[in-house]
Amino acid sequence: MTPKLRSIRTEIDKIDEELVRLLAARVDAIRAIGACKKDDKDAAILDAPRERAVAEAWAKEAEARGVSSYFVGRVLREILNWSRRDQEAALGRAAEAAPKRLRIAFQGTSGSYSELTIRKLFQIRCPGEEVTRLGRHTFKDAMAALLEGDADYALLPVENTIAGTINEVYSLLAEHPVTVVDEEAWEVEHVLAGLPGASLEQIRTVRSQAVALQQCHRFLNDLGCVAEAAADTAAAAHELKAEGDPTVAALCSEEAARDLGLDVLKRGISDQQVNLTRFILIGHKPEPFDDRLPARTSILLSVNHRHGALARCMQELADRGCNLSKLESRPLPEAPWEYLFYMDIEGRADQGPLSEALEAMRPLTNRLQILGTYPRRVGVANDAVPVTTPRKAEEEMVHAAPPAAPVCKPNPNLKNVARKDETRTVVRVGPVEFGSSRFVLIAGPCAVESRQQIFDAASMVKDRGAAMLRGGAFKPRTSPYSFQGLGHEGVEIMQEAGRAYEIPIVTEVVRPEDVDEVAARADMLQVGARNMQNFGLLSKLGTVQRPVLLKRGMSATIEELLLAAEYIMAGGNRRVVLCERGIRTFETSTRNTLDVSAIPVLKDRTHLPIIADPSHAAGRKDLVIPLALAAAAAGADGVIVECHPRPEEALCDKEQALVGDDLDRLVQRLRPILESQQRHMNVEGPNESDDGGPCFNGF
Ligand code: PEP
Ligand code: MN
Repeated sequence: MTPKLRSIRTEIDKIDEELVRLLAARVDAIRAIGACKKDDKDAAILDAPRERAVAEAWAKEAEARGVSSYFVGRVLREILNWSRRDQEAALGRAAEAAPKRLRIAFQGTSGSYSELTIRKLFQIRCPGEEVTRLGRHTFKDAMAALLEGDADYALLPVENTIAGTINEVYSLLAEHPVTVVDEEAWEVEHVLAGLPGASLEQIRTVRSQAVALQQCHRFLNDLGCVAEAAADTAAAAHELKAEGDPTVAALCSEEAARDLGLDVLKRGISDQQVNLTRFILIGHKPEPFDDRLPARTSILLSVNHRHGALARCMQELADRGCNLSKLESRPLPEAPWEYLFYMDIEGRADQGPLSEALEAMRPLTNRLQILGTYPRRVGVANDAVPVTTPRKAEEEMVHAAPPAAPVCKPNPNLKNVARKDETRTVVRVGPVEFGSSRFVLIAGPCAVESRQQIFDAASMVKDRGAAMLRGGAFKPRTSPYSFQGLGHEGVEIMQEAGRAYEIPIVTEVVRPEDVDEVAARADMLQVGARNMQNFGLLSKLGTVQRPVLLKRGMSATIEELLLAAEYIMAGGNRRVVLCERGIRTFETSTRNTLDVSAIPVLKDRTHLPIIADPSHAAGRKDLVIPLALAAAAAGADGVIVECHPRPEEALCDKEQALVGDDLDRLVQRLRPILESQQRHMNVEGPNESDDGGPCFNGF
């Protein structure tokens, strides 16, 4: 190392030390505020205007210092999330807090995801307290440690976003007099770890827990190694370390690799983008927590044999507006064809509407057991959620263009797509909502051209307020000699950029056989105008767990667009967003003609969200903003526009590509229109999710 490099590194070390010192000072200040709030029962925990003001001040300061405001904003978001959780935890801690020197039982060895989650949860529940983590061989053994008094709590996983429910843990809860007192989520990110100095090419055997091996199936297949099952991910890492064979690698957490001094050979190797596990903390008795904190209650019940008993139970919840976030059934071994139901419901078992609902449910059940009420720390995964827009808001939303009278007879074939009442579907892509009072801006280049181009584009659109990144990896070009796109490699680049900049991505798919692979990486799949009637593709998209952006064909009627959406919905996929992108007319001064009237007509005919693509409609950069404004005024739920970090280098559609300043202008001019309709831009404020988990991908 050169002396110069050494001196810069010394400087960095000093800065890092200072950063940690400042973070610690900030945490102290936050705790002082938390203490004030604890005494003042009217004080809200989340002060959104204050958080927004802090974010704006940081962004301004960052810009003045020539640092990316996106990067700084991301750091701030982590700090605010932690601060909020720390305050909530302070409120949650009862005065007669748990005994000193806590002992927590879990299944696995040190470095396993359960153990990491204990570290995360207890730093929040009781910072500074000494916590002993007791690894046990099985879930049952961990529960036994709690029951026999060897542990104060047991932390066990109950569900994983890929593998599903862990039934054994539910059975243990049903069988023993214990209670759920808390919950926590861990984002599972497997890495491939090898001995120090080992290289990826050397690896012949990969070892891990069976589920983890499955979750990285595609990567392991490409690597062409033998997979060997181990008791858990951390145990695989321990074995590797003990054996010292450089041709063996372990799939484990980055933390386990680091603790054991192993090298990380590869990151980002899971087939699925998001892999979250929810854990529950089990104790002996309920623990009170502050009324201002969001709560969740877990119950189990079995219904008596009367017809419709379960439906009546659910009705009691629905009638009181109690939100059910999980329902799971388990067979009762002692009574064939009878089932136990596990439910997670938002609210408290001993207060308010949930307490009333539970009382009303009791006579309908053979057994109703409250497993616990605890602070809700883990967000609820959302799907297409129909919401009823109040009539007044609806009228205001489209006041610039009153709903048109039906233009043609209702088509009985639009079974899923037709609007039947005031209910509108909100399609969620992570934190992004299509069809609510938020207006979605999607921006990005026409095509994925290179890694650098997409990363620059992601940074640009994120900084300028877009909610999603677009970019075509498969380009259906009119001429076979035009650039056809980078294919799956391009999708991978989009995925990486989406992760790096925490922005959901949408990309086009043109062949049914590519759908599964693209769906594994993209947050939303686009059907382009040229494929609107590719029925094989539409049917395939009906079977995937990803929302679809369906563009209107350039010569398709509105009826044909709706029928194309019906193909997708008939297959079971209800998350469809329609897109008006201009149609072919006799006019030649624009590439196509944006059919603005299609927006209110579609709003009248379907409950699905509708966005507009002014870029492909205009084909000219100077018309993109005016057409986007027209679409917003007509009631569109968002726009998708093309932009490029360096339009002069664009490999396709360079004439219509906006630059960063154009995006700023677009957002600025959209604002008053949206305000007049009581709507707002999708990305306002630093952080709208309350769970501290990843904000998109796979939800
Ligand atoms: C695109 O969005 O990249 C595209 C090709 O648009 P369209 O299918 O509307 O022509
Ligand atoms: Mn294009």
